Amino acid sequence: GRELLMIPGPIEFEPEVLQAMGIPTQSHLAPDFIETFGNSLELMREVWKSPEGQPFIVAGTGTLAMDMAAANLIEQGDRVLVISTGYFGDRFKDIMDRYGAETTILEAPIGEVVSLEAIENELKNRPYKALTFTHVDTSTGILVDPAPIAQLARQYETLSILDGVCSVAGEEIKQDEWGLDIVLTGSQKAIGVPPGLALLVASQKAIEVWGKRKTPVSNYYADWHNWLPIMKGYEERRPSYFGTPAVNLIVALETSLKIISKEGMNERVKRHQKLAKAFRTGISSLNLTILPKTTQSAANTLSAVYYPKGMDSGSFLSKIAHNNVIIAGGLLSEIKTEYFRIGHMGSVSANDLLAVLGALERVLLELGHDIDSGKCLQAFQNELLEIN
Ligand code: PMP
Repeated sequence: GRELLMIPGPIEFEPEVLQAMGIPTQSHLAPDFIETFGNSLELMREVWKSPEGQPFIVAGTGTLAMDMAAANLIEQGDRVLVISTGYFGDRFKDIMDRYGAETTILEAPIGEVVSLEAIENELKNRPYKALTFTHVDTSTGILVDPAPIAQLARQYETLSILDGVCSVAGEEIKQDEWGLDIVLTGSQKAIGVPPGLALLVASQKAIEVWGKRKTPVSNYYADWHNWLPIMKGYEERRPSYFGTPAVNLIVALETSLKIISKEGMNERVKRHQKLAKAFRTGISSLNLTILPKTTQSAANTLSAVYYPKGMDSGSFLSKIAHNNVIIAGGLLSEIKTEYFRIGHMGSVSANDLLAVLGALERVLLELGHDIDSGKCLQAFQNELLEIN
């Protein structure tokens, strides 16, 4: 049967986006493609809410976007504060260390966020060139409120770098209003394009700081010296070349960004919030518990859920897969076999989540768990219809 891909990226893509991938590949210098690239850069500003920002579209993954932020902004010996709410927060420390940064990491306990007090204490303690944080950590399903952290960064003259891989185009982001210096993502998540594009928007301040570097960027591919003229060129509808762009993926990106723009970012965020809330209601009706300790810190793009006690995680996931629903296992090494993850971002609909809840319920009943058939579906429906 037809499988429903419900992992937290890659996700189910819109048919129009997939069809766009299949058009005959144009020259990267063809007038139509220049228009597509230029439109995509402009539409990114809309999604990021960053009319002032400088967008970058580069072939690669979300990790390349993280690498690009670090390579361009960090010099040997710069101090960086890494705020971590899981596996991807920790990854930023590895990346920063690679560029010779002096890093301090603030790690949240599993299921929690790092307090603003802890962040401010650290910023008070000594000057930091930059801080990094993860909007939604895909390993824990933890959502962080970026606004007050960006505010602290500004107050202490620190650049703010937000990993938005699991949030951009799904969670609320106001890059300019909040004063975020970097917001980055990959194509395969809520942006809704198959894997292969690194997407990043830099503030004018970030570009200035980069422009005043004392040492050259030590990563050749990620260096903004190579990419900034290309992005400006395409936006001014001039043919430009540094490295061959991922033509078909960018055609798909424009298609998806147009779909997003048509829905409207505010509506899109509301849809994610509404579906996520109803899904959590369904999950708790299955007597299951989510990782985040408060609903305020529960992501709207994915849910991380603990198995019932004593569950064999491998056989649970394969039983779900036999029901044609593909979900993900745990990622955090300490508790890898104790929880699973479900993506609900991008084109996700109520129908998709009913299918997931139905499959979870069937498998739990099959395994002899004491739950009422249909209860989680009813709870989900009622939440969506706001019958409480
Ligand atoms: N950050 C977060 C929050 C992510 O979810 C991911 C991917 N799961 C990454 C970074 C890395 O992105 P990629 O796998 O595209 O390199």
